Amino acid sequence: MFGNRKLKYLLYYVTAVTILLMLLNSVIRNAKTEHIKYSDFEKMIAEKTIKEVQITDTQITIVPKEQKDVNQKIKYTTNIESGNIRPLLDKLNEAGVSYDGPISNNDPIKNFFLEWVLPIVIFMIIGRIIFGSMEKRMGSGVMSFGKNNAKIYAESETGKTFKDVAGQDEAKESLVEIVDFLHNPDKYTEIGAKLPKGALLVGPPGTGKTLLAKAVAGEAKVPFFSLSGSSFVEMFVGMGAARVRDLFKQAEEKAPCIVFIDEIDAIGKSRDNAIGGGNDEREQTLNQLLAEMDGFDSSKGVVILAATNRPEVLDKALLRPGRFDRRVIVDTPDLKGREAILRVHSKEVKMSEDVKLEEIAKAIPGAVGADLANMVNEAALLAVKKGRKLVIQEDLEEAIEIIIAGKEKKDRIMSDREKRIVAFHEVGHALVAALLKHTDPVHKITIIPRTLGALGYTMQLPEKEKYLVSKEEMMDKIAVMLGGRSAEEVQFNYISTGASNDIEKATQAARNMVTIYGMTEKFDMMGLESVSNRYLDGRAVRNCSAETSAKIDEEILKIIKESHEKARSILKENQKLLIAISERLIEKETLTGDEFMEIVRDFNEKNNKINQLEEVISNE
Ligand code: ADP
Ligand code: MG
Ligand code: ZN
Repeated sequence: MFGNRKLKYLLYYVTAVTILLMLLNSVIRNAKTEHIKYSDFEKMIAEKTIKEVQITDTQITIVPKEQKDVNQKIKYTTNIESGNIRPLLDKLNEAGVSYDGPISNNDPIKNFFLEWVLPIVIFMIIGRIIFGSMEKRMGSGVMSFGKNNAKIYAESETGKTFKDVAGQDEAKESLVEIVDFLHNPDKYTEIGAKLPKGALLVGPPGTGKTLLAKAVAGEAKVPFFSLSGSSFVEMFVGMGAARVRDLFKQAEEKAPCIVFIDEIDAIGKSRDNAIGGGNDEREQTLNQLLAEMDGFDSSKGVVILAATNRPEVLDKALLRPGRFDRRVIVDTPDLKGREAILRVHSKEVKMSEDVKLEEIAKAIPGAVGADLANMVNEAALLAVKKGRKLVIQEDLEEAIEIIIAGKEKKDRIMSDREKRIVAFHEVGHALVAALLKHTDPVHKITIIPRTLGALGYTMQLPEKEKYLVSKEEMMDKIAVMLGGRSAEEVQFNYISTGASNDIEKATQAARNMVTIYGMTEKFDMMGLESVSNRYLDGRAVRNCSAETSAKIDEEILKIIKESHEKARSILKENQKLLIAISERLIEKETLTGDEFMEIVRDFNEKNNKINQLEEVISNE
């Protein structure tokens, strides 16, 4: 890809220069020239049709008085017949023709200058201009192979400080020391303290690792060299290592400074689990990186930061003391953190004063900084679309949905029957949630289809951020997940594919109860699985025999069956309520948590009255 782009620019360059030279040429000799005989020239003098004449020592150029063609000037040239310049000049004087010359054309210095030096200078100037602007755009030295393409960010350019990073107080705290070190390294070296050479920022995507690294540079007011691990790998063979070498050379010249390697897992992948021989290029690059990190003197004030969301794949050698021996965890923000991040980003847009960011933060659990930044922007776009000057709460709420479930897709059409099924399915979730004890309140039910995600969804929100989940809560949660399918069964005696995602989530939850959380009697507190890949897909590794594994599956099935039965019986008992809410949902397409609870209350009141009446009747 890189090579292609270069070729393209080279082509542009050659074309541009060619056109320019052609233009220059036509300016210099802006006319067509025609060679004539000397005798014809003499004839023209006699006829007085000549405007002017230029004479060199080999040639005469004649500009005629009248042009035959207005669009194209014609000049004539003729050869000088040796020795007759003097008489010619007299003749011209006599005829009143103005002339230039004779000019010597044989000045070798001048010729050399015109024919060689000038074109080369022009070429170079144009090249400079074109490639200069290209380098700025592409951020890399296009013509400089082997030179690294680390961007140099001076303090003014990163422009980020710790104030821009919200909700990562612990991470910031551990980076403050590095900032201080970069400010005055002498303070540390005098005492003999060695600072860590590098710190590794670890956390899920979008939590602000890159942002934090920039903020460190901004706070320390030092240059910031940033490059991404993947850019090493796509290079030609041998280039990666050369780049690393160059990068460190540059950094040492510019010290104190920060070198930031983003997505370091691209080069830092463990060397020994490379299946099928591995990637030589990557290995070379990694080896060079290790060598450079060992080689340079940390007292000079070069700090290496790196970021990854897959620390477990990194080569152990990278994590040894003297390399990235310090880890800074940049985790998914909690409620307070989310609110703080929203506050940072809402400064960038005009926002109504009565916006309650806390509520917004509450409604979007699990969101990372990048989601929240995106959400504020979506809200601003919505406000513009609706012709508002300020972002209001409603915009933010709608933006949450966009982030959670993708944009509303209005043109997607569901048949009435499908819509009914989806409605009952969603109300099934909601009703089980409402009727069980250890569940989060229902926040919203909708059957408006979204591009991402399902045909409808039920949103439950915890009243406050939770860090511990009890066994009862886990069980009820699974029942809620299975409530959708259960409602379909209870109402229609029909099952659809719409529950696949629920099934997957419920099974995973049940599995975790058995294998990780020790929540079954059968396996007590035995750890049966460990999560290896915490930040990527959370894939679990089984720690038990195949036999036990089969028993685990049995246990999971037991939990699922139990929960399914629980959900089904709840819905059967409350089928009238299920119908009442579903009909309302079909009509309105979206119900808020309050509307939902109101229907439940109304229904219960009515039911109570009916029951009382029935009692009265039966008593009489
Ligand atoms: P990462 O490198 O961890 O994947 P980034 O640093 O690239 O994430 O974050 C992307 C964007 O998300 C940032 O530019 C910023 O706008 C926003 N963001 C992420 N985390 C935070 C945070 N903690 N505080 C403020 N903004 C954040
Ligand atoms: Mg990043
Ligand atoms: Zn469902």
